[in-house]
Amino acid sequence: MKRKRSEYTASFYRGNRGMFFLAALTALLTSGLHLVIARALQQMIDGISGVPGAPGLAGMAGWIAAVLALILLLQAMEYAFQPRFIRRAMEQYKDHAFRKLTEKSLASFDGEASARYLAAFSHDAETIETGWLEGQFQLLTSAADFVGALVMMLFYSPAMTGISCAFFLLPAGVSLLMGQRIQQAEGRVSRKNETFTATLKDSLGGFSVMKSFRAEGPIQALFARGNRALEQAKCQKRRQVIALGTLASLAGVLAQLGTFWAGAWLAFSGAAITPGVLIVFINLAAYVIEPLQVIPEKLAGLRAAGGLIDKLADALEEPERAPGAPLPGRLRQGIELRDVSFAYKGAEHPALEHISARFAAGGCYAVVGGSGSGKSTLLGLLTASRRDYSGQILYDGQELKTASLESLYDLVGLIQQKVFLFDASLRDNITLFRDFPAPQLERAVRQAGLGPLLETRGPAYCCGENGRGLSGGEQQRVAIARSLLRQSQVLLVDEATAALDPATARQVNLSLLELTGITRILVTHRLDESLLRRCDGILALKDGRVAESGTFDQLMAQKGYFYSLFTVSR
Ligand code: ADP
Ligand code: MG
Repeated sequence: MKRKRSEYTASFYRGNRGMFFLAALTALLTSGLHLVIARALQQMIDGISGVPGAPGLAGMAGWIAAVLALILLLQAMEYAFQPRFIRRAMEQYKDHAFRKLTEKSLASFDGEASARYLAAFSHDAETIETGWLEGQFQLLTSAADFVGALVMMLFYSPAMTGISCAFFLLPAGVSLLMGQRIQQAEGRVSRKNETFTATLKDSLGGFSVMKSFRAEGPIQALFARGNRALEQAKCQKRRQVIALGTLASLAGVLAQLGTFWAGAWLAFSGAAITPGVLIVFINLAAYVIEPLQVIPEKLAGLRAAGGLIDKLADALEEPERAPGAPLPGRLRQGIELRDVSFAYKGAEHPALEHISARFAAGGCYAVVGGSGSGKSTLLGLLTASRRDYSGQILYDGQELKTASLESLYDLVGLIQQKVFLFDASLRDNITLFRDFPAPQLERAVRQAGLGPLLETRGPAYCCGENGRGLSGGEQQRVAIARSLLRQSQVLLVDEATAALDPATARQVNLSLLELTGITRILVTHRLDESLLRRCDGILALKDGRVAESGTFDQLMAQKGYFYSLFTVSR
C-alpha cells in the first residue's frame, strides 16, 4: 500500500525538488516575517512611549523599511516558486495516473465504473492539490510560527508567556469546539449536494422518458425536495459560522484585554514589561495558539489527500500477470475453440457451454442466434477480455490464456455496433492520430468503402462530437478502415450493422465479405441471406450452446434450429 502511494507522490517531486525546496523556504521565511513584524511593533511602541534604548524616528523608519522590503521579497518568492512547483507536480501526477490507466488491460478495466476515474482526475485531484501540495507549505509555516513565537515570547518574559498562553487558549478552545460542528455541517452540505446532483443528472439523462411519460410534475417535486434539503443544510452551516464568529471574537477580545490586565499587574509589581512588550505578547500568542488548531487540520487534510491517492492507486493497480508468449504475427491455420465453457461471476447459468468450433484462416464466418444466446460473450472470449473460461481457445494452435495481450491486439480487430469517434478530422479518426504511408491509407480507405466519402468531404472533415457528422454506416466504415490500417489478421464484428437500414447494412457487409486474406467472424442477429450464403460457415448459438454449424445450404437442408430462425425472420 505504502509503496504504491509513494510511486504516485514521487511524481509530485520528480525533477521538481529545487522548486519544492524554494517554496518550502518561502513558507519558513513567511513565519520569520511574522516575528519581524511583532518585533517592529514592539520597538516602535516602546519608542513612542519613551522607553530608554528604544529607537527614535529614524530607527522606526528603518523598521518600517525592513518590514516592507521583507514583505516584497516574500511575495516575489511566493509568486515565483509555489505556483510553479504545484503546476509541475499536478501535471506529472495526473500524467502518471493517466498513463497507468491507459496501460490497464481491457479485462481489469471492464466492469469498473468510469465515474470513479472521472472523480479521481477532477474532484479528487483538486483535494490533493489543496490538501497535500498547498497543505504541506501551510503546515510548515504553522509549525515554524509555533516554535518561533514561543521562543521569542520566552525570550521577552517567561511569566508573561504563561499568562498570555493561558488567556489565548480560550479563543482557541472555542474555535476548536465550534470547528467540529462546522465540519459536521459541511459534511451534511456535501452529502445533500451529492443527492441533489444525482437527481439533476437523472432528470437530464432521462429527459425523453420524463417527456413521454409526462412525469414533469413528480420530477419537479423530486428536484424541489433535493433543492430544499440542500439549501437548508447550507443555511444551517452559515448560521454555525456566524455563531462561531461571535463566540470567537468575544473570546478574542477577552483574551487580549486579559493579557493587558495581567501585563499591567506584572508591570506594577516591578517586572520589566513595557507597552511594546505587551503588544508583542498579544501578537505572538496568536501565533502559538493558532497552530494548535491549524496543524491538526492540515494533517487531516494531508491524510485525506493520501487516502485519495491510495484510492486511485488501488483502482489503477493491475493484477500481476505473466507477460505471455507472443502470438504469431500472421494467422496461418486459424482459430479453434475446444469445449469452451464460461460463466459470468455470480450468474446462475453459464453464458457459454461446451463450445467447439473452427474458424479457418482467411475465411468469413457468421455467428447467429437469438438475443442473449452468448454471441457477444464468444467474441469477448476471443479478444481475451475474460480469461477465466474452461476448455481451450487456440490461435494457430497456441492457447490464448498464456498469450501476450499486445500480440493479440496486433492480430485481432474488434468492431462493435457503437463506434467510438473522436471530435477530430476524418483522417485522424481513421488513423487514430498516427502516420501511415499514403498507399496503405488509400487501400484501407478503398477496402472499407470510404473512398466516395473522403472524396466529397475531404480528409480534414470534422467528425464532430460522438461522430455526429457521420451517418451510422459511415461510422462503421471508419471502424473497418481502422482495423484494415492496422493490418489486423482477424476481424471480429459484433452486430456492427444492426442499427443500419437494410440497404446500408448490406453494403457494409459486402465490403466485409470482399476483404480477402482476413479471417472474419461476423456476429449478427439479422439473417441476411445474401451475406449468409457467402459465408464459409455459420455457427448457430442457442442458450449458450452450439445448436448447429455448417454452411448456409447445409443448415437449410437440415431443417433444424437455423432453418426455423431463418424462416421466422423473413
Ligand atoms: P448476445 O450477444 O448473444 O445477445 P451475450 O453474450 O451478450 O448475448 O449474453 C449472453 C448471456 O450472458 C446473457 O444471458 C446475458 O444476460 C449474460 N451476460 C452478458 N454480459 C454479462 C455480464 N457482463 N455480466 C453478467 N452476465 C452477462
Ligand atoms: Mg450481443
